Amino acid sequence: MAVADHVLAIDQGTTSTRAIIFDRAGRPVAVGQRELRQFYPADGWVEHDPEDIWRDTVVCCRTALESSGLDAGRIAAIGITNQRETAILWDRATGEALHNAIVWQDRRTAAACRELKAAGAEPLVRERTGLLVDPYFSGTKLAWLLDQVPGARARAERGELCFGTVDSFLLYRLTGGAVHATDATNASRTLLFNLHTQDWDDELLRLLRIPRALLPDVKDCAADFGVAEASLLGRPVPVLGIAGDQQAATVGQACFDIGMTKSTYGTGCFALLNIGPEPKLSRNRLLTTVAYRFGGVPTYAIEGSIFVAGAAVQWLRDGLRIIPDAPSSERYATDIKDAGGVYLVPAFTGLGAPYWDPDARGGLFGLTRDTGIAHLVRAALESVAYQTRDLTEAMAADAGHPPAALRVDGGMVGNDWLMQFLADMLGVAVERPAVTETTALGAAYLAGLQAGLFGGLSDLSAAWALERRFEPRLDGRERQRLYAGWLQAVARVRSTGA
Ligand code: ADP
Repeated sequence: MAVADHVLAIDQGTTSTRAIIFDRAGRPVAVGQRELRQFYPADGWVEHDPEDIWRDTVVCCRTALESSGLDAGRIAAIGITNQRETAILWDRATGEALHNAIVWQDRRTAAACRELKAAGAEPLVRERTGLLVDPYFSGTKLAWLLDQVPGARARAERGELCFGTVDSFLLYRLTGGAVHATDATNASRTLLFNLHTQDWDDELLRLLRIPRALLPDVKDCAADFGVAEASLLGRPVPVLGIAGDQQAATVGQACFDIGMTKSTYGTGCFALLNIGPEPKLSRNRLLTTVAYRFGGVPTYAIEGSIFVAGAAVQWLRDGLRIIPDAPSSERYATDIKDAGGVYLVPAFTGLGAPYWDPDARGGLFGLTRDTGIAHLVRAALESVAYQTRDLTEAMAADAGHPPAALRVDGGMVGNDWLMQFLADMLGVAVERPAVTETTALGAAYLAGLQAGLFGGLSDLSAAWALERRFEPRLDGRERQRLYAGWLQAVARVRSTGA
């Protein structure tokens, strides 16, 4: 009988789905990956087809297993991590989705959010959920689905439908419809989950007119979620870990002590600061969220979310077509000595933390006759660092001191120039780990902990390995001068009345 000494992590991201098999030392041994189709049905709307998500997940899992050469019996458990807040509504009996998934970036509920705010709902939402009233979160997306899909509300009241974020949808499909559950980190992004009781909140459900019968059971991040049917890998495998992508990255980066901070640079950028067992609210318009929950005990994080980071580079490549691929952005940036006063504010889908301005749109400033492609590319990369500075300034104001260092991961951190500029702009060291697939690694850790493959959190901390540390080098005055220019540019794209 084979020893089950590996974990399969499913990382269902915004632009791609990955399945990675990790061994018990936390080393990736095989990968399956597929790009995910994007739908933009209207300005500010973003959708995914849940069937694409499901099919891609199955294909990636099988590809990873095949290329690992392992027997399915060697897989002890599955961990799931996912793009968060993306809302799916499906039929409890057939598993069929009633509508495309409404993706976290989608702004269609901006007007509904404005109404909620005008009605004075934000203080209640904030106190209960640690979030703000913004289209980013799932709650108003779900309300939109119930209102817009014919018959959905009546069917939801009768208990015929399930709502879930992507983790929950995948779990339902993997278990052949046997389980409708999620974990506390994903639940904490819905606008419906009370941080203090760690349960769905009846008052918030009334406020958004969401029937409780729709909602999944909420479990710890390491828990017995159910068993993936043999049709996936050839034999049944238990699902033992779930966390939203940013929380999984926090676990993968071993940010287990109060004050430790990680920042992930993919499509968007998400920085999480561990604040321990108390759900303290930010005074600077950052979010309070469940970082992870073990044995019923949550650990919280203050989070700053930026909607456009790598997406700005995608725009250079696919929209403007001025660079052939994302990595070449580094060459353009190093070709010139500075951005020549050019600032790009990539508020393509509004501004996230700490501005929360869904109606803002992007802007490009400081153009002259000398402005060329390199300046544009450099300004796009710099915007990622400036936006991170906005977050760390707010975090420092909340925590009373700046982070000691920033652990980074995600697709963009292979860009050495950007990592150095980030350290320069923040004035703190930027630490890049040996394994940058930290999101998948975090999901593997969660499932592996539950399966008994990994010891405790201290083992995971000990396993974290530095690949390269970028120390700040830029003169303090220059740092302030560049950042002041950014703040001015941001002020110019803000929507009136924000
Ligand atoms: P996600 O998980 O959100 O789909 P990834 O973590 O895979 O994203 O990161 C992909 C993003 O990183 C893309 O937006 C891409 O444009 C950007 N990216 C990848 N490599 C680089 C690079 N060397 N320099 C700048 N941006 C990059």
